[in-house]
Amino acid sequence: MQTQAKKEIDTLISAQWIICVDDDNRVLQNYSVAIDQKLIIDILPTQEAKQIFRPSTQYDLPTHALIPGLINAHGHAAMTLLRGIANDLPLMAWLENYIWPAEGKWVNAQFVADGTRLAIAEMLAGGTTTFSDMYFFPESAAKVCEEAGMRAQFCAPILDFPTAWGSGPDEYIAKAKQLNVEYKNHPLITIALGPHAPYTVSDPAMCQVLTAARDTTMPIQIHLHETQFEVEQALQNAGNRPIERLQKLGFFDSEFALQCVHMTTLNEGDMAILADSNASVIHCPESNMKLASGFCPTKELLEHDVTLALGTDGAASNNDLDMFGELRTAALIAKGYSGDASAMNATQALRVATINGAKALGIDHTCGSLEIGKEADIAAINLDALNCQPSYDPLADIVYNCQANQVSQVWVAGDLKVNHGKLTELDQYALITTAKEWAAKIKEGMSAQ
Ligand SMILES: [Zn+2]
Repeated sequence: MQTQAKKEIDTLISAQWIICVDDDNRVLQNYSVAIDQKLIIDILPTQEAKQIFRPSTQYDLPTHALIPGLINAHGHAAMTLLRGIANDLPLMAWLENYIWPAEGKWVNAQFVADGTRLAIAEMLAGGTTTFSDMYFFPESAAKVCEEAGMRAQFCAPILDFPTAWGSGPDEYIAKAKQLNVEYKNHPLITIALGPHAPYTVSDPAMCQVLTAARDTTMPIQIHLHETQFEVEQALQNAGNRPIERLQKLGFFDSEFALQCVHMTTLNEGDMAILADSNASVIHCPESNMKLASGFCPTKELLEHDVTLALGTDGAASNNDLDMFGELRTAALIAKGYSGDASAMNATQALRVATINGAKALGIDHTCGSLEIGKEADIAAINLDALNCQPSYDPLADIVYNCQANQVSQVWVAGDLKVNHGKLTELDQYALITTAKEWAAKIKEGMSAQ
């Protein structure tokens, strides 16, 4: 009897559940994901997979669910070094009295490299495979990310005033363009323009951002309608709502896919602007609640087919980068705020944390779901935990009761970044030591004031 030669591939992952987050929201039992040359080349019953493939590495995960790696679509990675520096304050008091002074004193290329490395380690260990970052010295953050092999979008910050990173809009935009040239063909990293917020970027600088976006096709991410105060101030000072101002300037034109972070204060007109454009909303519920900023009406946004993605925001206002916690908070707050228990159901919530993030960042052709032809960005979650037993519905378990420490393996583009719950490359203990050294210096500086 002749047997056909098995096909040699890099990796075969066999799991109890595969939660694809594809268009049909398939949840497959006893299936395997076959990976070769970074790509998912097949998703098929495990019995069949073992007859067809000869993998270099095989993972048998009989009590696990595979999900697409989580996508943290908004944050300030290096702010991990300011985690917990000021708590229980509203946004402006928190920024003006603590964050901006600390940043003014300490932020440099080394701070950003060390803080970003810590953030990447925390995110990878918690099942996040892609993040978006908006912070000073993005060239340092991007370098650290490149070394760690994580997928990311780096938004070069743009403000009217000088910072340690640059003198003003001209220089910030020039640096963004230069970075974009450097990373143009990078397999994991994209560069975006990050005008900080309507209240820190004037109209002329906003227009410069649009021109740069048009010239380079760089995406744009902005904090928008973070608080009611921001909207009221704009109405008082300029006579229109921040979203209306940006619309008049052209940010919602069809050539752009604006990434709007927060969007807590929305009326019907605002909703119409979002629904009629390619814009996405990046919801950061824990940061919004911690700073008492307000509530993003996620139920209505989903009903209007606005792409809704999820972010943790910086660790200084969250205070962690745990996307499982964020995912659960988003699902619960959608129900609590709308008074409708069906708002953001479990399937929708997992989409918000995966494929919708990929859509918002413009990388959904590459990642965000487990489908043949996409790159293998995958998190394996061990459901054999006390808080997940018994398990009637693995997808609901992941949204409502799973914890980040149940993440056992993580792959980014087929590369194993976490194995048996431990980082494969980054040294957790060295990262903790470095963070403690920074905190000692920053604390000393604060007490000397
Ligand atoms: Zn933010």
